[in-house]
Amino acid sequence: MAGERQADCLFCKIVAGEVPATVVRETDTTVAFRDINPQAPTHILVIPKVHYPDVAALAAAEPQMAADILRESAEVAAEDKTVGSGYRIVFNTGSGAGQTVFHAHAHVLGGRGLNWPPG
Ligand code: C5P
Repeated sequence: MAGERQADCLFCKIVAGEVPATVVRETDTTVAFRDINPQAPTHILVIPKVHYPDVAALAAAEPQMAADILRESAEVAAEDKTVGSGYRIVFNTGSGAGQTVFHAHAHVLGGRGLNWPPG
């Protein structure tokens, strides 16, 4: 069923507290935690508690939840002292774009200059 926990999903396990993570913020519907392999001084992942494989599937099925992820991404950026003068919200969508964990998540990156276009 759409949005149901997947037994083999790493981020579903983080939501359940079965895999440790450095949680910085949590709501009824979302969890934000520090990326284990940070690519910038600020690198926080914001995920829905429900399972969808990527942001496109999430937005199609539960648009309000996609909005929650964006709002929480802005909140964690506002709270993080190292974010600096700007930040980037990234949704890698599909393996060709570098997605490795197939549970929808936003990367919130900041605290250093960010090049454009991204690599
Ligand atoms: O966009 P992508 O799917 O590649 O992002 C997954 C992210 O999850 C990676 O940046 C990786 O470092 C992070 N990760 C994590 N904690 C884990 C496993 C992966 O923060 N236990």
